Amino acid sequence: ENPANTFYLRDLRIIRATPSQMKAKPTSWDNLKFGHVYSDHMMEVEWHRDKGWAKPLVSPWHNLSIHPGIKVLHYCIELYEGMKAYRGVDNKIRMFRPDKNMERMKKTAIRATLPDFDAEELIKIIIKMVKVDKEWVPYSNTSSLYIRPTMISTDPNLGIGIGSQAKLFVITTPVGAYYSTGFQPVALLADPEFVRVFPGGVGTFKMGCNYAPTIFIETMAREMGCQQALWLYDNDEKLTEVGTMNIFVYWINEQGEEELCTPPLTNGLILPGITRDSLLEIAREWNEFKITERYPTMEEIRRSLKEKRMLQMFGTGTACVVAPIGRILYKNKTTKKYENLYIPTMEAQPNLMMRYEGEFVIDRTL
Ligand code: PMP
Repeated sequence: ENPANTFYLRDLRIIRATPSQMKAKPTSWDNLKFGHVYSDHMMEVEWHRDKGWAKPLVSPWHNLSIHPGIKVLHYCIELYEGMKAYRGVDNKIRMFRPDKNMERMKKTAIRATLPDFDAEELIKIIIKMVKVDKEWVPYSNTSSLYIRPTMISTDPNLGIGIGSQAKLFVITTPVGAYYSTGFQPVALLADPEFVRVFPGGVGTFKMGCNYAPTIFIETMAREMGCQQALWLYDNDEKLTEVGTMNIFVYWINEQGEEELCTPPLTNGLILPGITRDSLLEIAREWNEFKITERYPTMEEIRRSLKEKRMLQMFGTGTACVVAPIGRILYKNKTTKKYENLYIPTMEAQPNLMMRYEGEFVIDRTL
């Protein structure tokens, strides 16, 4: 018999939490810290090279029992996704573009030597799971249920090589506004000494190994009064991403045109964000200003500020949707001195970032 190349919704077993296993809901849906409380159920499914995928299981929240030799613990053979389910004012629950997350997850699985699966089956299983935990989808118009599909290599042999076993699991957590500052502009540390990714690397994939080395820099940023790192790349200091978000620059360009600019997906430096894709799609529909996919450089940012052509800079991602950028603490490569660059995102007219609010197409009702 051939190993099963996917798992199926029809094989899903659901064990519901008993009243005593159910956790207390947060007292308020509006002051949730990111990823601190989890809902009552989780989904798991195992893969083995010889047998393929097993049957998926949704069961009450529990710890995983793992062999200390599994490859994920040593070589970070891991991937994850981040997506959200929202409760609408009509009380219906909707997921935001889950097909896009699944497409990205499948691509990452290939690069991470983790097993492939059928995207539609996983979406249907996640929908089922969210329905089981529907009372964990916040009753709030600022909060939502964050869904974290994850895949790890559970092969217990220490050899560095392709694993013979893997586990896919999904956990969910109600989340509020991503930053404790709320909808306040963020300050970014831009130090050209550090890079997040490089051509030929895996920065375009959502593998956990990309994130571990960034924490030191993010910590440094916090110590210097910033919230996130602005990731620069190469001698010309291309702006690539901000923290774990894609970056958008809205300005009057050097040719005097109103332009929305974001780095391209073609050089292997950028995580193909679904929020990024959505913002570009919406702007193309508006068709009111120039949209360019290219790298802005630090020099161009500084020049646009000096010439008062800068309008807004913001980060985009599932967790925060849009995050205004108010200041860049830039370490000048030549002088080694720090300079503060103030970005007029909050005062700018027209306010493109705010216009995006409420423009999102939520395309799948559970
Ligand atoms: N860049 C990086 C490095 C990220 O981790 C994320 C979060 N997935 C994003 C950008 C934004 O992607 P998305 O809009 O799909 O959340």
